[in-house]
Amino acid sequence: MTKLLNGNQVAMKIRKEISNEIVKKIVNKKQRVPHLGIILVGENHSSRIYVNSKIQECKKIGMQSTLIHLHKNIEEKKILEIINNMNNNPMIDGFIIQLPIEKHLNQEKIISSINPKKDVDGFHPENFGKISLKNTKSFFPATALGIITLLERNNINIHGKHTVIIGRSRIVGLPTSLLMSRKATFGNSTVTIAHSYTKDLSFYTKHADIIIIAVGIPNFLKGKMIKKGVILVDVGINNIHNSKKLLGDIDFDSVNGIASYISPVPGGVGPMTRVMLLKNTLHAALHYRIK
Ligand code: NAD
Repeated sequence: MTKLLNGNQVAMKIRKEISNEIVKKIVNKKQRVPHLGIILVGENHSSRIYVNSKIQECKKIGMQSTLIHLHKNIEEKKILEIINNMNNNPMIDGFIIQLPIEKHLNQEKIISSINPKKDVDGFHPENFGKISLKNTKSFFPATALGIITLLERNNINIHGKHTVIIGRSRIVGLPTSLLMSRKATFGNSTVTIAHSYTKDLSFYTKHADIIIIAVGIPNFLKGKMIKKGVILVDVGINNIHNSKKLLGDIDFDSVNGIASYISPVPGGVGPMTRVMLLKNTLHAALHYRIK
């Protein structure tokens, strides 16, 4: 039987830990609760759902959040001004720009204009670079941190194991590869990164002890592509014909019984990603708050 890597359960536990820390280290010291800012540009349906769930997560643990919702045609100059205000606002501990943003905006320029000490998504080049430097004071991108924490909290041994990561995006695949392979207490995995130019993907997946997949193609990874006992982490979130049904990147039925573990969709990596954003915001409030 394939066991589930239950992200809901782990996230609930971590939420409780964060909540206790807020009380102990902030509220009991008569300081204000951590405050997350969210910038949303345009009307992308999925982005609105993600943003709403981030706001709900903040409420659940007693964090403050502020949403700045901007018109899809907003000028880049105006966004940079808003970011500059947030960078200098002592009442905001950290903030994010919900990605992807509209095509007319220069994503790199916008992300680079965020103060790295408030960059709770961990996408600023300074924070991104620090992933490989094992700097525990910086922010790790929430999904990558969520994946590695999901494995760690389920006592999965990754040390010396062969991990195949399918997808090399800045949001998921690339930072996850750095966290899995770095020399750390929970790390030291041997990582192969596959992407859309990889030839004979099954060759790699059949030799993997752990597979982490983030391609955005429903049911992409099949049972015939994996070896017995492999651990599967499904990052994909695919909306089927705008229905309420979400599908992952793994064909659950065909891997069931072959894999030893799988993270379900929904209820696997998604809740872990959301709770890691809270963890990063608490980190900003504890270490970098503008006095
Ligand atoms: P992306 O489009 O930026 O990257 C997709 C990656 O898949 C690329 O690196 C591409 O090379 C690779 N790819 C595409 N086709 C491939 C193929 N045939 N073989 C091998 N590799 C292939 O996407 P992303 O932002 O990384 O998101 C991927 C998926 O993860 C989406 O479904 C997204 O919704 C989901 N996601 C989930 C969470 C979460 O919290 N669960 C967070 C972020 C993204």
